[in-house]
Amino acid sequence: MFKRDSDEAKEKKSRMDQTFRDSVATIDEKGSRNYILPKKPKGALYQKRTIASIVYLIIFFTLPFIKMKGEPVFMINILKRKFILFGQIFGPEDFFIFMLGMLTFIVFIILFTVVFGRVFCGWACPQTIFMEMVFRKIEYWIDGDHNRQRQLREMPWNAYKLKKRAVKITVFWLLSFVIANFFMAYLISMDEVKRYIIEGIPSHFGTFMALTVFASIFFFVFYWFREQVCIVVCPYGRLQGVLLDKDSIVVAYDYVRGEPRGKIKKTTQSSELGDCIDCAACVRVCPTGIDIRNGTQLECVNCTACIDACDEIMTHVDRPTGLIRFASENNVVKGERPKLNNRIIAYSLVLVALVGALVFMLASRDDVEVTILRTSGSVYQTMPDGRIANIYNARMANKTREDIPIVLELEGIKGEIEVVGNDIVVEKEGYKNATFILRVSQDDIKQRRTPIRIHVYEKQIKIKSIAVTFIGPIK
Ligand code: SF4
Ligand code: SF4
Repeated sequence: MFKRDSDEAKEKKSRMDQTFRDSVATIDEKGSRNYILPKKPKGALYQKRTIASIVYLIIFFTLPFIKMKGEPVFMINILKRKFILFGQIFGPEDFFIFMLGMLTFIVFIILFTVVFGRVFCGWACPQTIFMEMVFRKIEYWIDGDHNRQRQLREMPWNAYKLKKRAVKITVFWLLSFVIANFFMAYLISMDEVKRYIIEGIPSHFGTFMALTVFASIFFFVFYWFREQVCIVVCPYGRLQGVLLDKDSIVVAYDYVRGEPRGKIKKTTQSSELGDCIDCAACVRVCPTGIDIRNGTQLECVNCTACIDACDEIMTHVDRPTGLIRFASENNVVKGERPKLNNRIIAYSLVLVALVGALVFMLASRDDVEVTILRTSGSVYQTMPDGRIANIYNARMANKTREDIPIVLELEGIKGEIEVVGNDIVVEKEGYKNATFILRVSQDDIKQRRTPIRIHVYEKQIKIKSIAVTFIGPIK
C-alpha cells in the first residue's frame, strides 16, 4: 500500500509546474481559438457513460410521444402558461410550487456538487450528452479519430476536404433541426408539431423560421462552439470555485503517487520517479483540452475520459490503476475516505426542509383553485326586505381534464348566496370568473366588517373554505 505523508504531498505539489496558469487550453499564443480535437475515448467508464446516454436519449426522444388522458405527460408551454409535469397540470396559480421546485432543484445541485463535484456535467447535462455522445461520435465516424481530424484541418481545400465538410455540415444541421423539433414538442406538444408538419410551411412560416434559427444555433454550438459552452457560458461551471472543497469527490490526479512524473527509461531507478509516465494519454482524450495533472480546474466537466485513458496505460505498464480517479483532495493527500462536513450537513438539512415543503404543497394541491374577493369599490346595499347585500367576484382555475360544477355555501352566518347568471361550471383546464350576491339579515350583523367563510363544493365534496369579510351597518 502506498504510504501518504501530507508534508511530502505539499512539497510534491509545490514542485509541480504552474505555467499552465498562464494560458487557456482553448486559446493559442496569438489569441485565436485552439480547436480541441480529443482522441476517441474508450474504457469501462466510457462504456457506462454510453449506456447512460443511450437511456437519456431514449427518454428525451420518446417522452413527447407519451400521453396521459389525451395530454402529453411532460410539456412546458410558456406561451399558453400551461405546464404538465408527470401528467399533472400546473398553471400560473401554481407559481409558488414552481419556485419551490426550482429552489429545491438548485439546492440539490449545490449539495450534489459539494459532495460529487461536477459529475452532472459529464454524465447528465444535455450539452455534454449531445456533444460527446451524439455529435462527437458522428464526427469520429465521418472524419476519423483525432489524428485524421488534424490532418483534415491542416490540409488545403480540395475535393476530399470539401466532401467531408459538406457531409459533416449537412448531417450536423439536419440533426440539429430534429433536436429543435423535439424541443418544440416539449413546448407545444408533439400533436401540435405533427399538425404544423401536416399543414405545411406556408401555413406556419413564422414558426418554421423560428425553428430554423434555433436549429442553426444548435448547429453552431455543436459544430464550432462546443466546449466553450462549459468553459465560458455555463453559470454552473463558474460556480465550481465556490462549491468544491477538499472533501468534494472530483476527477483527480493522484500527484502523491504520480510525481515526480517521467518517461520510463532503462537507466532510471524506479524509486526516483512516481507512477506517471508522462505519456499525456489523459490530455489527448480531454474534450476541454486540459491536463488534469495540474489539479482540479473549472474546465473539467468530469467526463472521466482521462480516467479510462490512464487506467489503460497503467495496466499496460503493469502498475495499479486509479492514478487518475474519483477522489477528494484529502483522499489524495492523506488517504482519507470521504466524510460528512458541516457544509454538507447544512445543505442536506435545507434540502430535506425544501423537499418536505414541496411534497406538502403538491399533496395539498386542489383540482380547482378558487379566490373570492369583494368587488372592489363596492359598498353594501340595503334590500327592500331589509336585508344587507354585498357583491363578490370569484375566480376559479380548473387543473383537471374534466368540467367541474362548483357550488358555494355560507358558514357561520345565516344568509343567501345568489350567483349572477348561470350555475358555475369551470371548464376543463380553464378559468371561470363568477359574480355572486351575498344577502344577510340586518339582525345578524354585529360589526361593520363581519368575518365569514364561504365553502366551495365540487360534486358535494367540500374542497375549500375561503375567508371573506361582509360589510354592513350595525343596528
Ligand atoms: S480532465 Fe478528464 S474528466 Fe476532466 S474534462 Fe478532461 S478528460 Fe474529462
Ligand atoms: S495518462 Fe496517466 S500516466 Fe499518462 S500522463 Fe496521464 S496521468 Fe500520467
